[in-house]
Amino acid sequence: MANNTFKQHFGITLKDRRKLRKHNSFLIWFTGLSGAGKSTLANALEKVLFERGIGTYLLDGDNVRQGLNSDLNFTEEGRKENIRRISEVANLFVDSGTVVLAAFIAPFEADRNNIRTILGEENVVEVYVSTSLKVCEERDVKGLYKKARNGEIPNFTGISSPYEPPSSPDIIIDTSSLDVEECVQQILEKIIPKLGLK
Ligand code: ADP
Repeated sequence: MANNTFKQHFGITLKDRRKLRKHNSFLIWFTGLSGAGKSTLANALEKVLFERGIGTYLLDGDNVRQGLNSDLNFTEEGRKENIRRISEVANLFVDSGTVVLAAFIAPFEADRNNIRTILGEENVVEVYVSTSLKVCEERDVKGLYKKARNGEIPNFTGISSPYEPPSSPDIIIDTSSLDVEECVQQILEKIIPKLGLK
């Protein structure tokens, strides 16, 4: 859209904010099927980081869809805009010096690539929660798979809408073979160096 806005530059920079926080800021994005364990892991990981004095914020699919993105549906167009807005919000948080944990299905590779474009490759850690459809459906935490199988939910990922597995995620976690603590430990090992704790 053509407009007459200009990027403003301010005195306090991202570098300054990171220095104040004593750690780097970036986005940890959990992608995977509904019920794969994204929210559970993001929540558990945030607790560990918080206890270590890391400035964090958690963005969760269901919560954001009830507020900022309540006007969007689950069509490809709606999902694309959902991810774009979340990425822009995450970008602001990362710019504020915060470690952002985002738990969103984000079923399309093109949308996930867009996250990297918006935030910059170096500011994104993609965690693929690879728990199989079979296990997710057996868990059926929110009863959504049953409804989707009965045709009550259109465009349901894994049932009536595709999930494109990430081609090169930074971390792959299958929650059917590990407990929550073990999963968190695996993610921590990868992100501790990236935090650059001072
Ligand atoms: P999502 O956010 O991906 O839709 P949820 O986190 O809401 O998934 O649900 C995942 C379910 O799987 C929860 O009921 C959780 O207790 C269970 N679960 C079992 N083992 C694990 C594990 N290792 N990691 C995460 N969740 C697990």
